[in-house]
Amino acid sequence: MKKSMPLWVGEERQALLAAIVDYSEDAIISKTLEGKITSWNHAASVLFGYDESEAVGQHISLIIPEDRLHEEDFIINEIRLGRRIQHFQTIRKAKSGREISLSLAISPIKNNKGVVIGASKIARDISPQKEAAEKQGMLAAIVNNSDDAIVSKTLDGLITSWNKAAARMFGYTEAEAMGRHISLIIPHERLAEEDYIIGEIKKGHSVSHFETIRVAKNGDFIPISLTVSPILDENKTIIGASKIARDISERVAAHKELEELYRQVKTLSDKKDEFIAMTTHELKTPVTSLKGFLQLLQIRTGENEQGRLFVERSIKQVDKLAMLINDLVDFSKLQAGKLGMHFESFDIKVLVEDCLELYTTNNTHPFRLNTSGSLEVQADRLRIEQVIDNLVSNAIKYSPQGGTIEITIEGNADAVEVKIKDEGIGIDNAVQDKLFSQFFRAVKPGYSIPGLGMGLYITKEIIERHGGTIGVESVPGKGSVFSFVLPRKSCNQ
Ligand code: ADP
Repeated sequence: MKKSMPLWVGEERQALLAAIVDYSEDAIISKTLEGKITSWNHAASVLFGYDESEAVGQHISLIIPEDRLHEEDFIINEIRLGRRIQHFQTIRKAKSGREISLSLAISPIKNNKGVVIGASKIARDISPQKEAAEKQGMLAAIVNNSDDAIVSKTLDGLITSWNKAAARMFGYTEAEAMGRHISLIIPHERLAEEDYIIGEIKKGHSVSHFETIRVAKNGDFIPISLTVSPILDENKTIIGASKIARDISERVAAHKELEELYRQVKTLSDKKDEFIAMTTHELKTPVTSLKGFLQLLQIRTGENEQGRLFVERSIKQVDKLAMLINDLVDFSKLQAGKLGMHFESFDIKVLVEDCLELYTTNNTHPFRLNTSGSLEVQADRLRIEQVIDNLVSNAIKYSPQGGTIEITIEGNADAVEVKIKDEGIGIDNAVQDKLFSQFFRAVKPGYSIPGLGMGLYITKEIIERHGGTIGVESVPGKGSVFSFVLPRKSCNQ
């Protein structure tokens, strides 16, 4: 039989080894026992940035950071003793100064007499693994230090991780919870939620801010807000779910407190409305009979000039009182949602003229009325009269120095607009949008103009019940324009 020969021998074998070294993805370097670099492969050039001609002949400290120079003594000692060093994790420095995490394997090189004459080292860049490990460590720290309970589970609901906050929140230690079914913390009547959550997770969906209740080891119910997301493996297959649970007990308690407060305020407000409704009713009757008696007295006073004057003044005051009571009646009806409307067709111009007639004795505030075309509307005549009366009487009341009151009525196919302009005290810009709220008064100190702050609130409600709008433009010290738009045919009919 022919003896088999090695396939590669002598120079061929050396060439093969050289090729392997050259094409290796790991940096392969050899050095003498004194640390002088004797070979430097292509991967070493790529990793450290020095090419072969720059590195060969240099001392190996070329790539050792200063604070790690002592490692070289240890390595060389081991090599001298003929020992190999495996998986030596360290840091080396590239030409650019960048530090590289490496895993080194160093072996002695012996001459043909078996004497150690140098070392070969294979260096593998482990920066990506190190970075990944650091990242994982960082994430683990975040999870562990989170105030929210973070739990992961398989698709079958078995708990696979349980952070410190979960232990605090639910009272089970990590060891007690791991491997148990998540129903451990789900109240019996809420078990169906788990099917829903797992169903979503299996579809690859997340569940966000799901507010629910879980039960702790001691039986306490804990209101939580849950966010659950799928966990994918490297093939993007869903293998489980991670859930973050935030304890919302405080928020729920605050909400309950607010609800209770709201309930109390509502009760008080209802009582106030009831009180106003009751007192206005009680006030109306005596005021009506007072007026009746005063009118009788007016007839009886006959020629007595002074008596007639006193009765006239008393009637005026009783009328004012009756108006205030009427406002209160309307206010309480509005609060109770009982302000009825009776729609009819009428010409708003005629209505305004009728209203103004009642003021004709007033010489300090001359009226100017501008109208055009037909101004027929379908609306509650008495309520619109109340609106005009209120705006005109305000225009007079808030122009203590007098001045013209100009009323303009314009109409188009859909609506009519009424503007009431005065030359009075005006209203600060900052409060103009509050004028139409209940009991709001914007009278500046120095003006003692009586009122309750209900007129504009009632006016706005009436206009809005007709589907219209109301607004104001005003310049302090110059005067105001209140205007409302009324649809020809109210949409609320
Ligand atoms: P009251 O006149 O009883 O105070 P209103 O609801 O009618 O109540 O008016 C609310 C506030 O709006 C008034 O207190 C006043 O400050 C302001 N205001 C209303 N009309 C005028 C106006 N024409 N000019 C200036 N201020 C006005």
